[in-house]
This record gives sequence, C-alpha cells and structure tokens, in this order.
Amino acid sequence: MECFICGCASKGIPPASTFVEVDCPECGYFGLPKDLAEKIESGKCRLHVGRTRDYLVMRNAQKQGPWITPVDINIYRLLQPGGTGDGGG
Ligand SMILES: [Zn+2]
Repeated sequence: MECFICGCASKGIPPASTFVEVDCPECGYFGLPKDLAEKIESGKCRLHVGRTRDYLVMRNAQKQGPWITPVDINIYRLLQPGGTGDGGG
C-alpha cells in the first residue's frame, strides 16, 4: 500500500479497529482513522506532508502515540483538498 502522507510504498498493517496503521520508510509508523484513509485513497483530500510529519515528531516528543486524530487534523490543518497536485515536496 501507499503511505497516506507522502505516497511512498509502505507496509500496511491490517486494521485492528477503526484505525488504519502504516509503517512508512519516510514518515515512520503512524495510524489514522479508517474513514479518513478512505477519503485520501479516493482522492477527495490529502495530508500535508510537511505538517503531518512535523505533527508526528511533536507527538513523539510528547510521548504520545503516532495517531492522527480528527481533532488534531483541524487544529494543525493537516488536511488539504485533493485534486490538482502541483508538485511540492
Ligand atoms: Zn510516508
């Protein structure tokens, strides 16, 4: 499967509950809600690569699990509309 942050080939871990877990060589290990994963896969929206990686680093520094939660997506503006990707990094 592809990483939900950067699209890099990564290991998908079968979801235990409503969370999808990904182990990406670039972004590291993280999880996100299944409904969000489905939106990203369908191209409706995508995660901001830089912001989301910074967010995961911050979570780690605070000794919190690497979970991308709907609340934090709003707070940190991790999500952006899908559609025309204009490159970037
Ligand atoms: Zn990644």
